Amino acid sequence: MSASTRIPPIAQPFVSDRAKKTLDQVRIPPPPPPPPEPSLPRHRKTIANHPIITQVEEFVEKDCVPADAVFSAELGEGEKRWQTTPVVIEKLKAKAKQLGLWNMFLPKSHFKQGAGFTNLEYGLMAELLGKSKIASEATNNAAPDTGNMEVLAKYGNDAQKQQWLTPLLDGTIRSAFLMTEPDVASSDATNIELNIRREGNEYVLNGSKWWSSGAGDPRCKVYLVMGKSDPNNPDTYRQQSVVLVPADAPGIKVHRMLHVYGYDDAPHGHGHITFTNVRVPVSSMVLGEGRGFEIIQGRLGPGRIHHAMRTIGAAEKALEWLIARVNDERKQTFGKPLAAHGVILEWIARSRIEVDAARLIVLNAAIKIDQGDAKSALKEIAQAKVLVPQTALTIIDRAVQAYGAAGVCQDTPLAYLWAGIRTLRIADGPDEVHLQQLGRRENRARKDAVTAKLKWQQEESDRLLIASGYKPKSHL
Ligand SMILES: Cc1cc2nc3c(=O)[nH]c(=O)nc-3n(C[C@H](O)[C@H](O)[C@H](O)COP(=O)(O)OP(=O)(O)OC[C@H]3O[C@@H](n4cnc5c(N)ncnc54)[C@H](O)[C@@H]3O)c2cc1C
Repeated sequence: MSASTRIPPIAQPFVSDRAKKTLDQVRIPPPPPPPPEPSLPRHRKTIANHPIITQVEEFVEKDCVPADAVFSAELGEGEKRWQTTPVVIEKLKAKAKQLGLWNMFLPKSHFKQGAGFTNLEYGLMAELLGKSKIASEATNNAAPDTGNMEVLAKYGNDAQKQQWLTPLLDGTIRSAFLMTEPDVASSDATNIELNIRREGNEYVLNGSKWWSSGAGDPRCKVYLVMGKSDPNNPDTYRQQSVVLVPADAPGIKVHRMLHVYGYDDAPHGHGHITFTNVRVPVSSMVLGEGRGFEIIQGRLGPGRIHHAMRTIGAAEKALEWLIARVNDERKQTFGKPLAAHGVILEWIARSRIEVDAARLIVLNAAIKIDQGDAKSALKEIAQAKVLVPQTALTIIDRAVQAYGAAGVCQDTPLAYLWAGIRTLRIADGPDEVHLQQLGRRENRARKDAVTAKLKWQQEESDRLLIASGYKPKSHL
């Protein structure tokens, strides 16, 4: 079944023929069967022989997923992990460019620099990218660069675009977005403290940041730094600004890389960084002083939906590994493969239902963004942001359970997937903040109308009961 035939019917009318073609791979002759590798999980052996796979899917499943392990091996051990750019990623980038699988994330309605797809179309592709550790970077669709490129494309001036957006779009440099700080609760961005003070033709930055994803990569050349340029402004949403800071500016110190459940995520990494009298020219200000909130809101919307899209792919991958394990004839319990035990089929069924439902939520949000912009789709984006990681974690957990002890170690991708996706319940704003906003909005929008309707229905019910000779029932 080709990828375009798997587009849910409600989304079909919104996907162009060109996007369907990019998703779909022309029928290719199956490659010769690989030599027998008895230690590999069964499904790994059959993928290469699958008669039709999509172009993106083909690139992800045949080029990127097998290269995930090479990427890790090339990184090696110790300090070297932060100084190395694995050769395999550059090779994959060259191939992706050749195939036209490059910068698909920049939506065509807003940016001329991208590959010309809608958010919905990219969503279908990002799902596939989510099945490999390196496919997003290989196609230049990786966070945080995607969000940073959107900021530069949307809010940057010509000089800023020339200096930073062009090499980012080309995949020759990488970037980081620095908002979260160790000393304040950063899920409320009004708390951010890093000070941005103007002195003549320069801004001087002082403060500290952490969880600066991507800052460990030797190719990371620019930080988008959010701080306070006007801390005393009575409007707490106009105190912040975003400035562009070269990663090698004097006064910047990267103290350490933070681990995610023990994974260092090298060479990308999550940095803990201090700024001591870091000076940048005033031309480094994005959009203008006091516009920081506007920028982060514009940035985080699409970023959240990209994460949700990739997470659907991760959930599909976990389901594939689950199916492979429970049908493994070599590993039976009580005389039967796991698939023959009733509860396991229920896990598969529930996982299928949950992934398909979550995908619809994500595609719905993408369609809503395409029809307006990220701001008009806040509700739909928040729904996807909350629902999708929770769904994926449930499915990954079932797969882990099916593998027994093997599920928690490095022999399957499941432990790493779980750790990465668990962070999405915190990163880009914790679940609770999104739920609070969703709940507040739903409650405010509906409370009066719902209360009035229910009251009217009860009164009408009583009136009908009395008219028919019965006693009225309402007691609220
Ligand atoms: C892997 C990873 C990558 C990240 N990458 C980046 C990055 O590149 N750049 C960057 O700037 N940041 C990044 N972050 C940081 C992330 O965005 C923040 O951790 C997040 O916004 C939460 O902020 P905090 O950690 O300060 O938690 P806090 O603000 O201290 O919140 C702690 C907890 O309080 C609870 N809480 C908060 N508000 C409410 C509420 N209204 N109601 C009920 N409970 C509430 C939530 O459970 C929350 O988890 C990353 C984080 C992770 C884990």
